[in-house]
Amino acid sequence: MSERHPNGFLRHPRIPIAYRDTRKRIGDYREIYAEDWDEAALRAQGERCMDCGVPSCMGGCPIGNLIPDWNDLVTRGNWREALARLHATNNFPEFTGYTCPAPCEPACVLARNQSPVTIKSIERAIVDMGWARGWIGPEPPSRRSGRRVAVVGSGPAGLACAQQLNRAGHSVTVFERDDAIGGLMVYGIPDFKFAKYRVARRVRQLAEEGVAFRPGTAIGRDVTLAQLRSGFDAVCLAIGATVQRDVAIPGRALAGIELAMDFLVRENRRQAGRRVRPAAPARGRRVVVLGGGDTGADCVATAHRQGAREVVQVSINPRRPAQRPATNPWPEPPRVHHPTYALEEGGREEFSLDSAAFVDSDGDGRVDELRLERVAWSYDRAGRRVAKRVLDSDVRVPAGLVLIAIGFAGPELAPFAADGLAAGPRGTLPVDARMMTSVDGVFAAGDACRGPSIVVWAIGEGRDAARQIDLWLTGDTRLPASLRTPNPPIG
Ligand SMILES: Cc1cc2nc3c(=O)[nH]c(=O)nc-3n(C[C@H](O)[C@H](O)[C@H](O)COP(=O)(O)OP(=O)(O)OC[C@H]3O[C@@H](n4cnc5c(N)ncnc54)[C@H](O)[C@@H]3O)c2cc1C
Ligand code: SF4
Repeated sequence: MSERHPNGFLRHPRIPIAYRDTRKRIGDYREIYAEDWDEAALRAQGERCMDCGVPSCMGGCPIGNLIPDWNDLVTRGNWREALARLHATNNFPEFTGYTCPAPCEPACVLARNQSPVTIKSIERAIVDMGWARGWIGPEPPSRRSGRRVAVVGSGPAGLACAQQLNRAGHSVTVFERDDAIGGLMVYGIPDFKFAKYRVARRVRQLAEEGVAFRPGTAIGRDVTLAQLRSGFDAVCLAIGATVQRDVAIPGRALAGIELAMDFLVRENRRQAGRRVRPAAPARGRRVVVLGGGDTGADCVATAHRQGAREVVQVSINPRRPAQRPATNPWPEPPRVHHPTYALEEGGREEFSLDSAAFVDSDGDGRVDELRLERVAWSYDRAGRRVAKRVLDSDVRVPAGLVLIAIGFAGPELAPFAADGLAAGPRGTLPVDARMMTSVDGVFAAGDACRGPSIVVWAIGEGRDAARQIDLWLTGDTRLPASLRTPNPPIG
């Protein structure tokens, strides 16, 4: 192993793994990130880590990844040990190494007055190397406990929960209503943000470890929760928060107005070689994306790849400042405006616009224009919008296709109505400190109980639910807790 310099941050500028050139990547559905990276360059990036006494980056990472440890191991060239440390807290580091918004990076101490360590790039490099060198394979348990657990939903929460429980010796079956395993990692996140073979490879790993998969099986329709409870010793609901929000304004019934997930999932299916209709609805059209968030950004990028004539992303909120204001100091998450990868490829953003009506100007039953109001908001102490002032009530944007990407209301609980599972006040599935729902032996994890979030939280929740289920089934557990929660008492 080679030595490292203590002041690497003075010797090397921050250079993350690059993205592909926007002009090239917009013409295909391959991942937007550069395929290759240079080992020596990544080792230098790891050397920028100051190995702080209090690694605030770990506090920024929802699952408490052991970031300074693997930075150090990478710098010294010990990639295999770095991979082991990465897997100690994260079942699927490539899910996060490619898609995570990396809240760890603004939390890095260097981010106070410099560029933070390229933590996400280093994470990706470690796991890329792990797969390339054949270091990642099945790790089946040495003994079986005789207990059976059903996991409902195969997103990152369900898969992490299944792998942890299986490695603890329990027999796990994952039920998924869709025809493919992976949740939003497969049907949701665009292929150019996350290639689907990466999920299939993990599903193979889990299957070889002994996890059983039942795709095409909707719980509450094909099999009831009561049947699962009588056939299994415990159940984990990792059903996501897939109910989409809609807008109720005049003209909503016109053709050419779609919910974001209908549009995005159809494109995922098309990329998987399925026949879908309409195949590329954005082609040649003026596209308006309602919603300034990340799902909206994925719609913008997909519309470009389908050959849209023009794309406008509309946000109800005002534009954030480019720099942290004094009221938002480090290490708080920065509330600043970042141009998204999608808008770097083209299109434009509009802010402080509230939708008022969809208009069919030529009477053919299809949307032609979106009417909006330019607004100024006042907020309550929690930062929620409470009242609007209309500055201009006649803003018009031409629209041949409108994609509604204004967020998600919560999990689909209607199939479980007969089982007494109901949404809490936030629309999510309430759980107690054991991550158990109001139904005995039925646990929940991921977006279903957190609300719409990000992949790393789902993995952490899946791991924590597995630990709680193991504890509940056996009275003891060796499964690690995610660092964001205190270790529950054992026994
Ligand atoms: C368009 C889009 C892009 C995103 N991009 C990113 C990103 O770049 N980075 C990031 O970190 N996060 C991203 N996210 C968020 C991330 O995908 C989610 O936070 C994460 O997938 C949640 O994981 P989960 O396992 O809780 O649920 P999900 O991934 O939603 O999986 C839940 C699964 O449960 C299944 N299910 C539901 N009900 C039933 C039932 N009754 N029976 C059987 N199966 C059922 C569903 O079909 C689904 O497959 C994105 C989300 C969207 C919508
Ligand atoms: S999972 Fe996300 S927050 Fe955690 S270390 Fe990786 S990039 Fe950072």
